[in-house]
Amino acid sequence: MRTTGRGKPRPYRSCGDPEAETSGNSVIEHQSQISNMTAKSNDLIACPGCGARFPEQHGPTHRYLESTPGCWAAYGEVLAREYSDPAYMKVHHFTADAYPVQHPGKPSKHNMQSVIVHLIGLYAGIELGLSQQEIAILRDGATTHIELRWLEPPQNRGNLTVADIVPARAAEEHCRLVYQWAEEAWEAWTGYHDQVKQWTQIIRQAKENS
Ligand SMILES: [Zn+2]
Repeated sequence: MRTTGRGKPRPYRSCGDPEAETSGNSVIEHQSQISNMTAKSNDLIACPGCGARFPEQHGPTHRYLESTPGCWAAYGEVLAREYSDPAYMKVHHFTADAYPVQHPGKPSKHNMQSVIVHLIGLYAGIELGLSQQEIAILRDGATTHIELRWLEPPQNRGNLTVADIVPARAAEEHCRLVYQWAEEAWEAWTGYHDQVKQWTQIIRQAKENS
């Protein structure tokens, strides 16, 4: 589902650990949380975070990541898919970092920390190619080794959203789309790339010295 019409699609790039096991074209049926929710109407509502359009419906949202109930349900569906199969799980760190930076919310301590931590995760995963474990260590260091501040969110937060991941029906397709989604989410914050790289260096240096 191409929903926002912002930016240009990126060419295919392989994703995840090339040595990791993949389920190839195996098909997994996913129970749709969206279909289980009560749709109020057929109107499509744009998510205030990522811009993806979902039918208006009732349902929970995250307490500080601003989204529509439909977008939050789609994220839950993608997470459930990843937790249920290692072939999908290998790109989980990209999912867990892409969604928050496309849903930065309003200035608050929680959101300030969320955006920075997940931008560091995207930088470490996409540009440094670090493992999920290494990225988790860097993310943890963000809260203790750098002075957090609010980063003004970009207007354009990437052409791909979680809505583009939901339709994937095989692990290879899921991984490819999630990687492209993460790349777009990272590129959207290009104005802060230098700052994020600097913070990452500070955290790595602190870890080496500890
Ligand atoms: Zn959204």
